[in-house]
Amino acid sequence: MSETQGQVFTEGKKKTCSDCGNEFFLSASELNFFAKKNLSEPKRCRPCRDIKRASRNADASEKFEGEGRDNGRGDRGRRRGRD
Ligand SMILES: [Zn+2]
Repeated sequence: MSETQGQVFTEGKKKTCSDCGNEFFLSASELNFFAKKNLSEPKRCRPCRDIKRASRNADASEKFEGEGRDNGRGDRGRRRGRD
């Protein structure tokens, strides 16, 4: 019996980031994670992925700005010096 399904990586791999061109390392557990989820391996290093994700979040939160602003009232600061 041969099980070719579910490739298991025992070693990590070096990749070159398609954004900044830096080399980055994918650990075996990361490779297994992506394989298991049927995802392709990331082409970008982690910092570049974080930047991408952050900018996406920024886009989303921009839409919410202007709402719920009254949560930040300054009541706390007024209590100072009352000891
Ligand atoms: Zn990068």
